[in-house]
Amino acid sequence: MKLARYSTKGENKLGAVKGDGLVELGKRFPAVSHDMIDLIRRWPEVGSAISQLVADSAPDEPLANVHLLAPVERPGKIMAIGLNYADHVQEARQKMPPHQIWFTKAVTAINGPFDPIQLPRASSQTDYEAELVVIIGRRCKHVAKERAPEVIFGFCAGNDVSVRDWQLQTTQWVLGKSFDTHAPIGPWIVTPDELGDPHTMGIRCFVNDERRQNSNTRHLIFNVFDQIAHLSRAMTLEPGDVIFTGTPGGVGMAMSPPQFLKAGDKVRVEIDRIGAIEAIASAEPLS
Ligand code: ZN
Repeated sequence: MKLARYSTKGENKLGAVKGDGLVELGKRFPAVSHDMIDLIRRWPEVGSAISQLVADSAPDEPLANVHLLAPVERPGKIMAIGLNYADHVQEARQKMPPHQIWFTKAVTAINGPFDPIQLPRASSQTDYEAELVVIIGRRCKHVAKERAPEVIFGFCAGNDVSVRDWQLQTTQWVLGKSFDTHAPIGPWIVTPDELGDPHTMGIRCFVNDERRQNSNTRHLIFNVFDQIAHLSRAMTLEPGDVIFTGTPGGVGMAMSPPQFLKAGDKVRVEIDRIGAIEAIASAEPLS
């Protein structure tokens, strides 16, 4: 199933994508609010009934008539792994990492799949990173790699937008990865039963229709299950937690000369069997 958050006529709703439409969940399951994390928590009880109902229902609204929102609006945490595709390690002039390299992105960086990405006043080095994103399905700790699939609720496309000067001026990348709007995810969550093997998907990034990144999740150095096993040795993962799984080669910083995003640039991340998110880069508004 593909589960989306969307707004229509001033109201936020949860829905399942069916063809080119959305089956609204709230009106059929009054117990389901418009909070995706709440739905994820209750999925073990309500998931199969919802699947059946969606199969039996006609869409309520065409996708074209709604504004898709970030599937998870305020996750408990966003964890992201660095240097996790060999070609990106090479272009970043780094050594192959012997360990997984983790950083966080501020949860306030979450952004809708089609909302503008801000070019911050504090920098002119905003860059894109196309990434497969995992949404955690249940509270867990010390998850064996073989059991990692059980704790995954689903997958999205994401852009780990990075402000390179801020990222690299200190050994900690956190600030450069945490600017407002710099964690767009979507366009919806695809559940594992529909997605199949997460390690066989083409992943691409386009800037103004020029293809900048073009790889496949089979090239992840530490795959999704390795990542969950490792992370959960350190911390409890909770429903709705967001994991950015690394970007392939082709980021703007590594181009010669470097190409950072400019106002008006259109940035598209697409992943096979998930879909695409697309943003216009625009100046940070004066506030
Ligand atoms: Zn990244």
